[in-house]
Amino acid sequence: PESKIVGTSKSFAPSYDWFQTDCSVTVVVYTKQKGMNSEMVILDYEDSRLRGEIIIRDYSYLLNIELSNAVQEDIAVHVAEKVGKVEIVLKKKDNIPWKKLGQPLESHNSFIKRTDQGLYYRKCKLISKTEVTHDTRLFCLLLPQSTHFQVPVGQHVYLKQIVTGKEVVKPYTPVSCSLQTHFKEPSCHDGACLFLMIKIYPSGLFSSELDRLQIGDYIYVSNPEGSFQKCQVQTLEDLFLLAAGTGFTPMIKLLNYVLTNVNSLWTVKLMFFNKTEDDILWRDQLEQLILQDKRFEAQFILSEPSKEWNGKRGKISSSLLSEFFKRSKQDSKVLICICGPAPFTEQGERFLKDLGYCKEEIHSFTA
Ligand code: FAD
Ligand code: NAD
Repeated sequence: PESKIVGTSKSFAPSYDWFQTDCSVTVVVYTKQKGMNSEMVILDYEDSRLRGEIIIRDYSYLLNIELSNAVQEDIAVHVAEKVGKVEIVLKKKDNIPWKKLGQPLESHNSFIKRTDQGLYYRKCKLISKTEVTHDTRLFCLLLPQSTHFQVPVGQHVYLKQIVTGKEVVKPYTPVSCSLQTHFKEPSCHDGACLFLMIKIYPSGLFSSELDRLQIGDYIYVSNPEGSFQKCQVQTLEDLFLLAAGTGFTPMIKLLNYVLTNVNSLWTVKLMFFNKTEDDILWRDQLEQLILQDKRFEAQFILSEPSKEWNGKRGKISSSLLSEFFKRSKQDSKVLICICGPAPFTEQGERFLKDLGYCKEEIHSFTA
């Protein structure tokens, strides 16, 4: 039978409608925004509750409904980018007509500041854990089948677990499973998995507990957060990356993104600060990328090198920065991204300002 509108919400922008056929229910959100994309839609379905969050700049529109009838786990989300329409297609478990969509839950149909929305967590299953270095592992988490979310470049999530009876939450930055831009993880279809590169500190409250997780165990993962925006790199000519230790994590997706999507790009230079050679994350992959892509260069700087180390030594300094970060041409459009321990990031910002870079040319990754 033909679809027909059976329910309408009267509210401020955005708004939603729903319609049904014999076997499906479609919820349509009219965001009235141009340039929507699937990264802006976060969807969860758990215990008959449907929760959809649509991110529009600093605001989020929330659908939060206890559905009146059961639906299947595989939910499709379609985003009509130009008109800003989001369609959520639910498959009915029983092919009977629904009288209503469901019961509104807390903050349903609200449009409020993202910072006031509170973080939503869903349970994800640990499906693999591989060694990156002596103390850092790559964790692969499987999202629930009904969950739709992608973590945008430069954003982080919060992980939550119970440590000695108390809830503990820490931020982590999802990475790509590889620096090979064309590599696809065979066992995990796009968007279903989250890869996290996490350093285990023996006395670290959260990370040591995380290391005790077994394959098949669950952990809570929040919605993404962060201030980085892709438009900061869209017409870029030079990208300089300043990373220390696990501060390398936001650089991974960023590298993949710019090398595949930013046509104006001339050079990408990474300065990677670590204690010892054994601490350099994905050194092999970085060296391979240098060979593969002429635009990419990397320099490793060690603060506690062995006698055999021939490369650069020391900690972040104005002279190291000015030596390596040379623009491809005078007045090139440049962005410098910094991530590492707080004192490292603060020193980096200060040195770069002293070297004449302006505020808009520097992005620091922080919580
Ligand atoms: P903590 O219990 O916090 O301790 C960490 C270490 O520091 C331990 O060795 C501890 O003994 C020592 N320590 C604690 N307090 C002090 C102190 N005052 N002085 C000196 N030493 C101290 N980490 C990653 O591995 N991967 C990521 O992708 C990642 N992304 C992040 C994204 C953001 C936005 C931020 C802010 C941080 C990110 N981190 C990341 C760091 C992460 O959030 C945790 O801080 C880290 O895992 C340590 O947590 P922990 O509870 O295990 O250790
Ligand atoms: P680490 O202790 O192994 O140090 C790595 C290098 O950082 C050192 O070799 C040194 O060159 C530099 N460094 C360390 N302390 C410094 C200081 N006080 N001043 C100047 N330089 C310093 O690093 P780690 O254990 O891998 O820690 C990484 C840090 O990055 C953590 O604090 C973590 O919270 C942070 N981090 C932040 C984000 C984010 O904000 N988005 C993401 C990932 C990691």
